[in-house]
Amino acid sequence: MDTRVIMIQGRGETLSSEEEQALQEAGEVLRRGGLVAFPTETVYGLGGDALNPESSRKIYAAKGRPSDNPLIVHIARMEDLAAIVRQVSGEAALLARTFWPGPLTMILPKAESVPYETTGGLETVAVRMPSHPVARRLIVWGGGYVAAPSANLSGRPSPTSAKYVLEDMNGRIDMILDGGEGDIGLESTIVDLTVSPPQILRPGYITREMLETVLGQVGVDQTILQADSGQAPRAPGMKYRHYAPKGELTIISGPAGQVTNYINIHAAEDRKQGYKVGVIGTDEALAQYRADVVSSLGSRRDEDSIARHLYSILREFDDAQVTRIYSECFETTGLGQAIMNRLLKAAGHKLIVLDGTVSSAGQDNRV
Ligand code: AMP
Ligand code: MG
Repeated sequence: MDTRVIMIQGRGETLSSEEEQALQEAGEVLRRGGLVAFPTETVYGLGGDALNPESSRKIYAAKGRPSDNPLIVHIARMEDLAAIVRQVSGEAALLARTFWPGPLTMILPKAESVPYETTGGLETVAVRMPSHPVARRLIVWGGGYVAAPSANLSGRPSPTSAKYVLEDMNGRIDMILDGGEGDIGLESTIVDLTVSPPQILRPGYITREMLETVLGQVGVDQTILQADSGQAPRAPGMKYRHYAPKGELTIISGPAGQVTNYINIHAAEDRKQGYKVGVIGTDEALAQYRADVVSSLGSRRDEDSIARHLYSILREFDDAQVTRIYSECFETTGLGQAIMNRLLKAAGHKLIVLDGTVSSAGQDNRV
């Protein structure tokens, strides 16, 4: 299959007539059961018609994703929610009014219209309304309901630019809409509204604190920052390895000076043994690292920057064929919780705490 790449200037807020026509064609591809990758404010999505079981099957095949790992259905108009969920609860309506369009996914009981192929066999459906103008136009042209996981091969870091979508999906899908780089860089927050109190299954840009200002108490799934607990995860995808770079990643936690020392000592040893070593650091410590590739996520004071750059740095290390990676560690509150959740998964939970202990070397269930 030839994969067509179509450039959309800017974020698509004002579309030229050629761009509008390209989006219309992309919508046609979706309606006919094809697959189109598109930019969102979080990461690039791999879209198919959410109400067509054949499209969902194609999404799993293109990603190499296990079919019990459900897809998120993307909508563009508030009034479209009612057709795919059994009931729009008061909480759901309140969250939609407050955070949509935006990086929040809600789990709700599914309506009959949603095929089990889309929900990974579940009676619930995940729904989100993205804010990215290109995504919104595509969803409308595509019939209103677009199932879209991140547009990467299963297990790899989610793509934050079209270049990385092409790398993983060339020849596997019909079209890629190139709308530049995402603003947020991490996948949406997922909140389960079928339980009381509502529970965060995946942390993201919409933090627990933000949800609590609207809903009161909100729980957080225990497995978010832990290695596999042996419990069946509530969000099925959480049991799979995610976001992993090709090199072996270890996170180092501790006082700043000790972290840089530890990394430099180990990087030097690794290089002697023939490894190509990468360091994921921050502006504050960057000049002190000695390794083959040293990359900054931005300033420690700027969590948005850290979130935005994490996946692209993991991909750049792959491009540079880095075989060992050390990363600094981050706060686990607010947006930091989402950052650490992704970083820990990327590292298979390999975290070294510098006070003499080695913690939590437990592995995710790998596929
Ligand atoms: P991705 O499409 O890669 O951003 O991942 C979507 C994730 O949403 C899945 O891996 C699940 O963790 C979660 N998810 C989707 N649908 C449901 C659902 N019905 N119930 C619980 N979690 C869901
Ligand atoms: Mg994904």
